[in-house]
Amino acid sequence: MKINTKCVQAGYRPGNGEPRQVPIIQSTTFKYDTSEDMGKLFDLEASGYFYTRLQNPTNDLVAAKIAELEGGTAAMLTSSGQAANFFAIFNICECGSHIVASSSIYGGTFNLIAVTLKKMGIDTTFVSPDATEEELQAAFQPNTRVMFGETIANPALTVLDIEKFARVAHKNGVPLIVDNTFPTPVNCRPIEWGADIVTHSTTKYMDGHGTALGGAIVDSGKFNWMAYADKYPGLCQPDESYHGITYAEKFGQAGAFITKCTAQLMRDLGCIQSPQHAFYLNLGLESLHVRMPRHVENAQAVAEFLAAHPKVERVTYSGLPGDKYYEIAQKYLPNGGCGVVSFEIKGGRTGAEAFMRRLKLAAIETHVADARTCCLNPATSTHRQMTDKQLVQAGIPAGLVRLSCGLEDKEDLIADLAQALA
Ligand SMILES: *Cc1c(COP(=O)(O)O)cnc(C)c1O
Repeated sequence: MKINTKCVQAGYRPGNGEPRQVPIIQSTTFKYDTSEDMGKLFDLEASGYFYTRLQNPTNDLVAAKIAELEGGTAAMLTSSGQAANFFAIFNICECGSHIVASSSIYGGTFNLIAVTLKKMGIDTTFVSPDATEEELQAAFQPNTRVMFGETIANPALTVLDIEKFARVAHKNGVPLIVDNTFPTPVNCRPIEWGADIVTHSTTKYMDGHGTALGGAIVDSGKFNWMAYADKYPGLCQPDESYHGITYAEKFGQAGAFITKCTAQLMRDLGCIQSPQHAFYLNLGLESLHVRMPRHVENAQAVAEFLAAHPKVERVTYSGLPGDKYYEIAQKYLPNGGCGVVSFEIKGGRTGAEAFMRRLKLAAIETHVADARTCCLNPATSTHRQMTDKQLVQAGIPAGLVRLSCGLEDKEDLIADLAQALA
């Protein structure tokens, strides 16, 4: 199946007389005839459902669709994108492990890695996404267990050279995790470029309507855990909490990562997506391939309009020929990246505030990737604790506006921007 068909049909194939739409299995528990039947589930000897904190049939149908979209072997849904990145990392890291991560990542993920994981004894070296292979190599340590980056970083809009990162990760015998939230598998499939694990905040384009918080983890099934058994004891040594099974042996390369993540992390931490949210997510996925090209078309038109406007200092969008990431985007994102454009308005903080107050269609929100256009000025919202000087150092000038182009008519969007700029 082509990606367009997968968005609509993958994951769920109803049998004769079964519901056409993915059923919402709104049940915390599942019934068995004998304790023996249930015991087999607890030993991971049989596959089946026993408690929705670990697994739910609705979630699994939608996760199966996302696995097919990304070209992975297995997937799972989490309660948020934050949970997805935490689980994906914590599934193979423990106290004493080390991470090499791109410094150009979502602020929530940066805090997760730099603050919370650090408290758990997991250290990180941040690297520039533009670093050379030699510079990336220099960040590795004997205890490095994973490399991490974002295909298109939120909000910096840097584009990751996935092949370069994957090459260095694999040379060091560790997997590369790529957060593919912004382009979605419709515009980029990181596994095809060497990524081993892909994560998502499904809250963004996959849901696409600002409806349900969620996350997803996809395993490519390509990383050979057993070849690095000493580094990944959680996957390659017996798990006493399941009668001594070894995930990488029992579930193989294709299934070990997601099975362990479900059986251990979901069991113990419980950040599962609700089946109702999985249903909403699937509705979003059914039109993802139709929506993404429109988001890109609108963003491209808006970026070109802004780039030519005298009151705009600078525009960042990898679809613009002058953009720093234009060439690399042509390789990884030939059909365009996403609907998010960032631009610096002349007049700094005051200019940005005055401009945004006058917008009529674009709403001020802490959100991106919605059907409705929205925008945010980091200097007066998410980064308001920083001084103007600190903002410039962080690459977020006071006049920067992050604009997430929705699915409206591009002429209306441009007219709205034009009247507000005027
Ligand atoms: C929003 C976002 C997250 C966090 O996802 P939530 O669903 O808000 O928890 C992670 N990564 C990226 C790239 C994001 O844009």
